[in-house]
Amino acid sequence: MLERMFDLTDRIALVTGGNGGIGLGMARGLGQAGATVIITGRNAEKSAAALRELQSAGVRAEALPCDVTREDAVQALFAQVEARHGKLDILVNNAGSTVRKQPQDFTLDEWKSVMDLNLTGAFLCARAAYPLMVKAGGGKVINIGSIMSLFGAAYAAAYSASKGGIVQFTKSLAVAWAKDNIQANAVLPGWIDTELTVGARAQVAGLHERVLARTPAGRWGVPQDLAGVAVFLASAGSDFVTGTAITVDGGYAAA
Ligand code: NDP
Repeated sequence: MLERMFDLTDRIALVTGGNGGIGLGMARGLGQAGATVIITGRNAEKSAAALRELQSAGVRAEALPCDVTREDAVQALFAQVEARHGKLDILVNNAGSTVRKQPQDFTLDEWKSVMDLNLTGAFLCARAAYPLMVKAGGGKVINIGSIMSLFGAAYAAAYSASKGGIVQFTKSLAVAWAKDNIQANAVLPGWIDTELTVGARAQVAGLHERVLARTPAGRWGVPQDLAGVAVFLASAGSDFVTGTAITVDGGYAAA
């Protein structure tokens, strides 16, 4: 009974930025819980490698290219999902990045590039997913924020603004779409070892040690640490959970 609550058999899941890092960790978890997982990203080689990794882990997976900042590309992606599967049950808005600079040094284009990817990309995908979820009789939207949804950092003005926005956007989706049996929640990862944070550690002196000292769990997270929360928020186990934001940070935000 409990197992069935978290069973995702026959569900179709789409994970943006699912070809690496946290997205791939969540894609693997969703797939191992039974979902067919569609991963997206811009880099075809990375997507092919991620697809092989998922398939060799026994996951039913597909890779479709998409730059989520482009409205036409997002529309084409969801049209393909509809043509292949006729519905979508689970959307993980995970694609994201940052520009690390002091606020006063941002160009407008740099600011917009972060907003376009982290916030507008999530909007474009959620909007396109809505009719497919209605068709499925309900759905789950999982938006990836950050502990920077809660905190600021000198080098993260655009990133933290976009990730704060993700939490508020998630609440609005939850309120608007509850009538359609669609639950929308945010996940706020702490410091996770991925390509993104390899870059952060290279650019921000002392970051690695500061994270270790501040994180009660005493370690950096790994993408697999996000798999469980993704399965929970994608499953019937979270049918009365909507509009919230769950930190997955080894206790960082509590310390
Ligand atoms: P990675 O850099 O490892 O992965 C980012 C993913 O996003 C890649 O799969 C990339 O694929 C994809 N992507 C980037 N730009 C686009 C685009 N324009 N369209 C479609 N896909 C795109 O980062 P993480 O795994 O670390 O981060 C994943 C999410 O988690 C992000 O939203 C990030 O902000 C968030 N997060 C990460 C934390 C961490 O410590 N790592 C902490 C808190 C939040 P491709 O290059 O092929 O397009």
